[in-house]
Amino acid sequence: MTLPGPLNPPPRLLMGPGPIDADPRVLRAMSAPLVGQYDPFMTHAMNEVQELYRRVFVSSYQETLLVDSTARGAIEAALVSVLEPGDRVLVPVMGRFGHLLVEIAQRCGAEVHTVQIEWGQIAPYELIADAMAKVQPKLLAVVHGDTSTTVVQPFDGLAELCARYGTLLYADVTASIGGNEFLTEEWGVDIATGGLQKCLGGPSGSAPATFSPRAVGIINSRKSIEAGIRAEGDAVAAHPIRSNYFDMSMVFDYWSERRLNHHTEATTMLYAAREAARIVLEEGLEAFQARHLLHGRAMLAGVQGLGLEVFGDLEHKMTNIVGVVIPDGVDGEAVRGRMLQDFGIEIGTSFGPLQGKVWRIGTMGFNARQDAVLTTLAALEAVLRREGFGLPAGGGVDEAYRVYAEAAA
Ligand SMILES: *Cc1c(COP(=O)(O)O)cnc(C)c1O
Repeated sequence: MTLPGPLNPPPRLLMGPGPIDADPRVLRAMSAPLVGQYDPFMTHAMNEVQELYRRVFVSSYQETLLVDSTARGAIEAALVSVLEPGDRVLVPVMGRFGHLLVEIAQRCGAEVHTVQIEWGQIAPYELIADAMAKVQPKLLAVVHGDTSTTVVQPFDGLAELCARYGTLLYADVTASIGGNEFLTEEWGVDIATGGLQKCLGGPSGSAPATFSPRAVGIINSRKSIEAGIRAEGDAVAAHPIRSNYFDMSMVFDYWSERRLNHHTEATTMLYAAREAARIVLEEGLEAFQARHLLHGRAMLAGVQGLGLEVFGDLEHKMTNIVGVVIPDGVDGEAVRGRMLQDFGIEIGTSFGPLQGKVWRIGTMGFNARQDAVLTTLAALEAVLRREGFGLPAGGGVDEAYRVYAEAAA
């Protein structure tokens, strides 16, 4: 067999729904030397990561840590650690990731109830409240920002509903955290899980998560002690968590001062997660969000300036992504192909009911920048024209410039 050449990826500007280009500082942190699992440097870095992510999640929860997986793994870790077979779960489904919550909860053996919402809209409070009264679930699982629809779900009143029925509140904040306001503790969210490759500007493969004392109590009540280290007298849970790797009670022990061995913490990903959070907090969480808002508005104005229609409820649009309706007669995949081939720019396609109908353009993390926005708009205009779609010359870049000029005034 001939040996493949050295790894040499093409230069890309990743303007889709994630992953996005990692901040170069994150990539540099990932090239730092490894240390042992219990090296004081490592355990200190783990503690630093906990403190950094408490600030990112705006949560004082002790159990704020990394799940070593992509975001989907953290969702699964949260659900499998909380849910026992037969538990009732309520999921408002507004997009693709609501369906994912349903699917994972079903695999946990839960009895899953849904509130089905048309893609592109929020779930109205009244519908959730009615369903909560009927189902009285153990867990209410909600996607905060769903990249599949570009819409951010308001959390107003959800904590009070959950308190009324003794329900835990879970939020998937993978796509929203950092770039959109999310106040974990103030909003009464018991568990929030994220990922690095959206607004946080890192690679996929590490999932920050935060768990309230109430959630931790429920999870730890199901604690099993691994066969090899079980001591005489250690209780065996009646309803053990049906995963070893994603048993959060064991992961909590690993991140505690006791440092009970579980998996080997993914050192390089921990470096990445640490640097990603440090960059957010160095800029300031509010300034970081304001930057996402600004560049998201410029991109929105730009695509509208090109005469393109925007998808979804704009009043509840996520700061960091816009859905663009593919104009009639335009081959969406041909445009994406040309953007990539001719300009090295990736924009996103869509899933489910929006497949072939909507492109998704992200402005997040390291790529929430004026040059990235203007370059993408200029390229999109050129490609659309080349694909035979007549549109106002320079309209996209001009409108984005206007947003920047207004913001600077
Ligand atoms: C991207 C995304 C995920 C999945 O993340 P992976 O890292 O691919 O597992 C989950 N939820 C939401 C809302 C997302 O946007």
